[in-house]
Amino acid sequence: MRIAILSDIHSNLEALEAALAASDSLGADAVHCLGDIVGYGASPNECVQLIRERAVVCLAGNHDHAAVNLLDAGGFNEDARRAVSWTAHALTSDSVSYLRALPMTHLVRDVLYVHAAPSEPEAWDYILRIDDARYEFDQATARLCFFGHTHRQVAYEARDGHVGLVGRPEFSAADGARYLVNVGSVGQPRDGDPRAAFTLYSEEEESVRFVRVEYDIEKAARRIAEAGLPELLALRLHLGR
Ligand code: ZN
Repeated sequence: MRIAILSDIHSNLEALEAALAASDSLGADAVHCLGDIVGYGASPNECVQLIRERAVVCLAGNHDHAAVNLLDAGGFNEDARRAVSWTAHALTSDSVSYLRALPMTHLVRDVLYVHAAPSEPEAWDYILRIDDARYEFDQATARLCFFGHTHRQVAYEARDGHVGLVGRPEFSAADGARYLVNVGSVGQPRDGDPRAAFTLYSEEEESVRFVRVEYDIEKAARRIAEAGLPELLALRLHLGR
């Protein structure tokens, strides 16, 4: 099975539609979502609805939990907090029920799916550096772990006692190696590339492919402004930061 793994959509419907269209044309058999469907953008209910229709697996993200009162947004920055309260007001009761019921992890044999750092998913820790990755490899046993949360598409490899970056947009899992794969953010990339990001994973070939796709950034940004959400949340979409 070829799986399109999407994360950190953040209420960006234009980016989500583009990512789903690209995953269809690349022959994905299924869609998995690693959470943060909402927060930051202007289309929370539309994104929840589309993910409900398309994703066979969907996990909880910290912004999903904050929007439905399962997490205190006190630790968020001011723009994120404003987006959380805007989102909480905008969500329908149907969307709230769906978001509240999302699981934290999904495990298939030795492949783990999670939103943030796998060692303690509910701590919502970020894997930003090689040292963070090394810590996670020491704690966890999964051979392959797909995660999101930092909005940066990147893969770490543990092999023969050494932890490093894979550094290629497409690779196959090597025998005896383990991987932590950040699938990137559909709706608010922060790795300098403003295109929507997601990852294709082939279970049979144990191969991973990073995908980027153009979408109507102008429209998503305009709708953020029209909704009265913080201006920076629209601006950063153009920058990919
Ligand atoms: Zn996020």
